[in-house]
Amino acid sequence: MKIGVLAMQGAFAEHVAMLRRIGAEAVEVRRAEQIEGLAGLIIPGGESTTMLKLADIYRLNEAIKHHAKKGLPIWGTCAGAILLADEVTNAGSNMPVGLGLMRMSVRRNAFGRQVDSFEVKLTVDGLDGEPFPAVFIRAPIIESALPPAEVLTRLGNGTIVAVRQDNLLATSFHPELSMDDRFHRYFIKMAVEYLARH
Ligand code: GLN
Repeated sequence: MKIGVLAMQGAFAEHVAMLRRIGAEAVEVRRAEQIEGLAGLIIPGGESTTMLKLADIYRLNEAIKHHAKKGLPIWGTCAGAILLADEVTNAGSNMPVGLGLMRMSVRRNAFGRQVDSFEVKLTVDGLDGEPFPAVFIRAPIIESALPPAEVLTRLGNGTIVAVRQDNLLATSFHPELSMDDRFHRYFIKMAVEYLARH
């Protein structure tokens, strides 16, 4: 079972390392054909504008949308979550159109300068045990999510920071940067379920 990590830009190496640490086969994805045959795809954190532009040049955007609609599990972390959203409320004029796959609105760089990086422990639906240590780096927030998108966790003030919509998963934070592998195991489970159906 192969899990791909989009490797245009950003924190892809950390995802690959975490996947390998838990025994999954991880591949860096740079070409559209590489998505064929994957059991899951991770879109890492980084710079959403740059990532979208590069993915467009390499014709990955269309390929990702195509496979998402066929049920491939896709997980966007931080900038990756921005790519998956169907609306970026502060996109500005130079932000390319995203993938528009998840019924959620996101706001980029929503935590402001003072606190643009922090760690907080979150209780997440679907993760057993202790609260999850979530690392936020110039993170987006999810301003709203509509069914079939379901909220998995919120900050103490109610801000949504993780959402699942069937085969799609979005986290504002970076689970690949904490030593806790439960989010990656959760995604592997989605991939196993997908393979069982295909
Ligand atoms: N600030 C970045 C953006 O808006 C996201 C940061 C990250 O992925 N860590 O694209």
